[in-house]
Amino acid sequence: MSSTVLPNFVSGQWQRGSGDGTPLFDPVRGDELVRVDATGLDLPAAFAFARDVGGAALRAMSYAQRAAALGEVVKVLQANREAYYEISTANSGTVKNDTAMDVDGGIFTLGLYAKLGAGLGDRHFLLDGDLARLGKDPLFQSQHILSPRRGVALFINAFNFPSWGLWEKAAPALLSGMPIIVKPATATAWLTQRMVEDVVKAGVLPEGALSVICGSNAGLLEQLQPFDVVSFTGSAATAALVRSHPTVVRHSVRTNIEADSVNSALLLPGHEADSGAFDLLVKEVAREMTIKSGQKCTAIRRIFVPQAVYDAAAQAIGTRLAKTTVGDPRNETVRMGAVVSRAQKQHVIQGVAELRSAAHVLFDGTASSLIDADADSCCVTPTLLGAHDASAPVLHDVEVFGPVATLMPYTDLAQAQALIRRGQGSLVASVYGEDPAALAAAALELAPSHGRVHVLSPDVATMNTGHGNVMPQSLHGGPGRAGGGEELGGLRALNFYHQRSAVQAATPVLTAMG
Ligand code: NAP
Repeated sequence: MSSTVLPNFVSGQWQRGSGDGTPLFDPVRGDELVRVDATGLDLPAAFAFARDVGGAALRAMSYAQRAAALGEVVKVLQANREAYYEISTANSGTVKNDTAMDVDGGIFTLGLYAKLGAGLGDRHFLLDGDLARLGKDPLFQSQHILSPRRGVALFINAFNFPSWGLWEKAAPALLSGMPIIVKPATATAWLTQRMVEDVVKAGVLPEGALSVICGSNAGLLEQLQPFDVVSFTGSAATAALVRSHPTVVRHSVRTNIEADSVNSALLLPGHEADSGAFDLLVKEVAREMTIKSGQKCTAIRRIFVPQAVYDAAAQAIGTRLAKTTVGDPRNETVRMGAVVSRAQKQHVIQGVAELRSAAHVLFDGTASSLIDADADSCCVTPTLLGAHDASAPVLHDVEVFGPVATLMPYTDLAQAQALIRRGQGSLVASVYGEDPAALAAAALELAPSHGRVHVLSPDVATMNTGHGNVMPQSLHGGPGRAGGGEELGGLRALNFYHQRSAVQAATPVLTAMG
């Protein structure tokens, strides 16, 4: 017998698709959990309802009122946290700490936007800069304003963050006054669907503000209109399809893309194996490789160290990775769960094989046995690769979305920085050192090819937020291969959901506008 088919929520109603549904699995035990299906939904009606009913209701509220609504969403999610942990364990195969990153990370992000939004007060639009005189006479001037876009925000999300991936986009969109339709990645859609269900049932958002469509993406992009936006997170290959979709192109639909990224960690020259900076790098690399089984768009994939400490780094990272217990996340002794599906496990195996054409294995976790999981499960043990010669393109092109990274030695800093740029634009690079001036110079050098630079020195060893942890106060996104998108960064995130316009008028008109 097949499992329950989860309903979609569109046009203000819970609606089941007309098909048999696509099954979602427990990646450790292999059991079928639930099904999702969006076959036969009336998508034009769903988008129109969100735009017309949800959009109008949200725009009638002030920023402060919408911020208060976000605060209510936080309470609903907190009240149901336990259920989200259970779904995440079963469907994503994550240990508690990894679930926290997704579930509590999403709630934290919503909470931050609730606070930021309260500070925007009782307004219905935002001023952008000051009045600008257009000529000698100050009577006729220009004022830039930001007004909420009168469309719907379509989110197409990746499988690795079914909670955070929704809320990090939803918080600024709702605060801006735009209704949302979210299409989670099929493999882990259950958690997103359940969270939307809880929020809808609690009635804390206006009708039409939040819809969820689980299952096929067929027909979604065709619904987009000129004032809509689409925010996509996923692979570069799908991103290219979204960006070049005829409807998106025809209507110049505003698009934000968060795609894959071959992120780096760089130990600055002159740090020996007994230095604090070396120690920080080793800990951070081992952590980043294993959190969420390496399924983090921000995870460290390439590690650059001075030639002199290459062997010591390989040894030290390997020693840490050897302590990572892998298996069923329900077992308290397990530190790393599974990747989300058989397809992802296969991608990891294939990706390691591709990297091995230019690298050798420095640490291979397959020797340790899995805990409460068998070889058929989607558990993958960590692999550290090494390449004495860092010139091969594959080392900088292939993102293995699992617990895998490649260590590379460099001879001088300029060479290391050039190698990092061969990632063609990344979400984040972390730099490890002890001298503030050298660290500052390295950060400035790497900034143009990254959305974020995470600088680690021993004085912030215990208080830093982590290379791969996306804080809502800081920008998330990156140029080039990383998609060219920008998310979060505090109130900067609101720009995407607003239209910037210049109003040119007599000063009293601009004053009357408020
Ligand atoms: P994916 O295969 O590109 O899928 C992403 C989303 O797009 C899913 O919801 C998928 O739906 C949907 N989709 C697939 N084909 C589509 C099409 N033709 N039109 C419209 N939507 C379509 O990516 P993934 O494998 O889920 O995610 C892994 C990748 O995401 C990694 O490369 C990772 O680096 C990247 N990622 C980036 C970030 C970031 O913030 N930069 C965050 C997380 C992940 P179905 O699931 O139903 O196919």
